[in-house]
Amino acid sequence: MKSEYRQIKEYMDQSKKTVAVTGSGISYLYGMSRLKRSVGRLNAGRIFSASYVRKNPEEFYKVMKDSFLDATFVKGPGTVHKQLAELEKQGKLYGIVTQNLDCLHTIAGSQNVIEFQGSFRDNICTDCGSRYYDYQVWNEGHMPRCEKCGGAADAGSVLQRFRIDCGYFL
Ligand SMILES: [Zn+2]
Repeated sequence: MKSEYRQIKEYMDQSKKTVAVTGSGISYLYGMSRLKRSVGRLNAGRIFSASYVRKNPEEFYKVMKDSFLDATFVKGPGTVHKQLAELEKQGKLYGIVTQNLDCLHTIAGSQNVIEFQGSFRDNICTDCGSRYYDYQVWNEGHMPRCEKCGGAADAGSVLQRFRIDCGYFL
């Protein structure tokens, strides 16, 4: 009986467009904490509301920092993120589809990444709706601010998702 790894390698050798699908497990493996520990299940819906972010941007930033940003900017990508990036570089992996918002695949060097639930790369001002496509705005030690009006620039897609089903990640 073939090992699972050998079987996967055979599939990848035969495939013209292999895509990796990743989720929260890969992020938790490398230090991402579950929101449940940071804010508690009952508080998540309140904290991820647009009105909370608008009124309490720095408190919201602290929750994001504790739950996601330290893993993204301090710890950085793990071995699996780097190996997937290497496979793409070698032409053995077409791309990555991920539910993760942490940008760790991109930071690891992957080029073809679809973050289907949004990420820290896609930020929307909670006041005027201006968009900012740069995850580095979250690496400045405070809530990202809109260059046009000074409002809190939040990862809009992520928030929208949490508003729909804030318990999914908990
Ligand atoms: Zn604005």
